Amino acid sequence: MFDYLVVGAGFAGSVIAERLASQAGKRVLLCDRRPHIGGNAYDCYDDAGILIHKYGPHIFHTNSRRVFEYLSQFTRWRPYEHRVLASVEGQLLPIPINLDTVNRLYGLDLRSEELEAWFAQRAEPRAAIRTSEDVVVSKVGRDLYEKFFRHYTRKQWGLDPSELDASVIARIPVRTNRDDRYFTDTYQYMPLHGYTRLFENMLAHPNIKILLNTDYREILGLIPFREMIYTGPIDEFFDYRFGKLPYRSLEFHFETIDMPWVQPVAVINYPNEHAYTRVTEFKHLSGQEHRQTTVVYEYPRGDGDPYYPVPRPENAELYKRYKELADETPHVHFVGRLATYRYYNMDQVVGQALALFDKLVGRASAEEGAAA
Ligand code: FAD
Ligand code: UDP
Repeated sequence: MFDYLVVGAGFAGSVIAERLASQAGKRVLLCDRRPHIGGNAYDCYDDAGILIHKYGPHIFHTNSRRVFEYLSQFTRWRPYEHRVLASVEGQLLPIPINLDTVNRLYGLDLRSEELEAWFAQRAEPRAAIRTSEDVVVSKVGRDLYEKFFRHYTRKQWGLDPSELDASVIARIPVRTNRDDRYFTDTYQYMPLHGYTRLFENMLAHPNIKILLNTDYREILGLIPFREMIYTGPIDEFFDYRFGKLPYRSLEFHFETIDMPWVQPVAVINYPNEHAYTRVTEFKHLSGQEHRQTTVVYEYPRGDGDPYYPVPRPENAELYKRYKELADETPHVHFVGRLATYRYYNMDQVVGQALALFDKLVGRASAEEGAAA
């Protein structure tokens, strides 16, 4: 008898499995319908021997010391600060928008102190910031919005920014200085030997058994367990009872090129050209040395593997109905990006799983206390 069946071997499932096994002495069965652990953070070596991320570029960054120290038990790190350029009107310009972006795009020579006023002249005041359009237009005005955000977003989400919650584009700051890093978090590192190695170390505990190529429904009734942790899509768990929750998908096209480097930075965004949104050159992320290089193109799709929850009011309403069902379902705990329908980064998912563990063991000790 297993104490827990954990469905999904991504960050959510693997963290909770590791904590339950190593800190609470629980016997855990971890299953995933994919043929590998790691969920969307899975990486592997391609035919050329270059480390690639199978489900698109994953860059680790966090402000949470707890999350960073927790993961540091399972990997060494390589310091890495992510930089992205956007291809706009024939130039490769820093994104997030900063002083250099504006000066180079408009042929200006503004100083940092002047840029605030320059933005203010162009900004369109909005009474309330509800949508992703409001976020940008109210800060930097319509022209930068059109050139950097509107069309990228329409490609990525199949929706106009005016139809998406403010939180989506609010992920990207606007700067008046020359800082061209994509993130400003305290901890910015890549796992030295990749994510899959990190997951292998995390799950190498005798109390954890792993079953790959296995949808949990195939083993229900065959393998007994006490409680379930579910990290897949929440609407699927309830057989789409209230209808499908929208998830955005991507198609990845990988290409290996006979040159050591093809891009000046890891990621180039294409807001206005091409059907793809961005191109990532992996060697920038890993620091790997190789005479060839591999890049991936991301083509947004409506159908396919669920990668992104779509933050907008009607979806939040629908999720709420599933969440109520989830709260009423005994012995099943929902955690992770798909199971809680949140546009979470890896560190947020790790934090969420650690919090669930605290709750589970807190509850367990309260029950033991009551029984004693
Ligand atoms: P997942 O990794 O999706 O794991 C869920 C697992 O459950 C999957 O492996 C799935 O196969 C399995 N599963 C589902 N249903 C079943 C079932 N019925 N039976 C068995 N198994 C099942 N985050 C960052 O911090 N930095 C980044 O740079 C970054 N880039 C990203 C780029 C892309 C293109 C995408 C899509 C995401 C990115 N993320 C990034 C987010 C990151 O991928 C997630 O935060 C994280 O992987 C979520 O972990 P999870 O365990 O919740 O979900
Ligand atoms: N975005 C944009 N232009 C860019 C970069 C981002 O319009 O050059 C918008 C777009 O809607 C995107 C969102 O900001 O989906 C969040 O960007 P991020 O890079 O965080 O997306 P992710 O890495 O999660 O795909």
